[in-house]
Amino acid sequence: MSVVQKVAEWRRHIHQHPELSTKEFNTSKFVADKLEEFGLAVHRNVGGTGVVGILKNGTSKRSIGLRADMDALAIHEQNCFDYKSKTDGVMHACGHDGHTAMLLGAAYELANNPSFDGTVYFIFQPDEERGTGAKAMIADGLFTRWNIDAVYGMHNLPGVPAGKFATRAGALMASESAFKIVVKATGGHAAMPHTGTDPIVVGSQIVTALQTIVSRNLSAIDETAVISVTNFETNGTVNVIPSEVTISGDTRSYTDSTLRKVEKAIERVVAGQCLSAGVSYEYQFNNSYLSTINSLDETQYAVAAAEKVVGAPNVDGNCKRYTISEDFSFMLREVAGCYILIGNGEGECGGTALHNPHYDFNDDILPTGIDFWVALVNNQLRSDL
Ligand SMILES: [Zn+2]
Ligand SMILES: [Zn+2]
Repeated sequence: MSVVQKVAEWRRHIHQHPELSTKEFNTSKFVADKLEEFGLAVHRNVGGTGVVGILKNGTSKRSIGLRADMDALAIHEQNCFDYKSKTDGVMHACGHDGHTAMLLGAAYELANNPSFDGTVYFIFQPDEERGTGAKAMIADGLFTRWNIDAVYGMHNLPGVPAGKFATRAGALMASESAFKIVVKATGGHAAMPHTGTDPIVVGSQIVTALQTIVSRNLSAIDETAVISVTNFETNGTVNVIPSEVTISGDTRSYTDSTLRKVEKAIERVVAGQCLSAGVSYEYQFNNSYLSTINSLDETQYAVAAAEKVVGAPNVDGNCKRYTISEDFSFMLREVAGCYILIGNGEGECGGTALHNPHYDFNDDILPTGIDFWVALVNNQLRSDL
């Protein structure tokens, strides 16, 4: 059986046995056992179910970290193929089964054919989907127990031709933060609004006023942000003015300074509207992901490796920014590195959107992903340097 066939089998095994974020017990064991089989030094339970496999060759002190995510989503799979999820309500709808299998394939290839000089750290992380996995591995010493010079991550991208690559130096993906505003008023009888305070009118003004933060407070050139109100709840009924309105939503931005500016601006808007209406409020702002910022040198290494595998015309080294978010961002705040996107295909062949119950990772890109990791290691840890 060829290496690619083997990796496709591993991918389908992981697809059939998806596990939710932080509960990747069997996936983690599967990964760690395979790495041990290949002869790597393996550390289990790094930041929960995380696994670090270490492959050394030659004498150089240089090192590189390659990261894959292992968690699945709470989605009931609607696909009909024979390797569909065996767990009701849980599926690999983001392709982390493919990411894990490709990185295992690269470990297998590099262990059997080591021509690099240095140390490769294979990092398999838990919980990317809720954003706690990278942070947990960092807190458990990922970059203090081991000396990792640079880290790289890869994600598939449906709708982009299979095997094409895209990345950029600087911010590739946005930060994500959630906010929750509770407007507290007296409420009262719907027929006599003048006897109390009405949080619905204040809340509606807040929703409208929030639109002015992006349009009036942030620079259109370098402070791009998104502020989306996604929920508006009250405790009123038809003839009762509520005493509370809860407004929640989501924000995205590309720099930490814009993130902090948005956090403060939302509260300023809320405080102003509530003051004018004579009501009080509570405000929470929680950051889940920072923006994913690629360093220049490592982006060049990643682009060179991708070009070696699929040819320069198939690599966009200065792609557009994405408003989606990724917890690899936290690793990129610790050491230099690059996150790269690989096309999952178009239409029926890999084009279904991520987090959709009909999504599937495209096995045709497994060899491309494996070859990318191998080329990256052999280039960054070149034995003739
Ligand atoms: Zn996802
Ligand atoms: Zn994902």
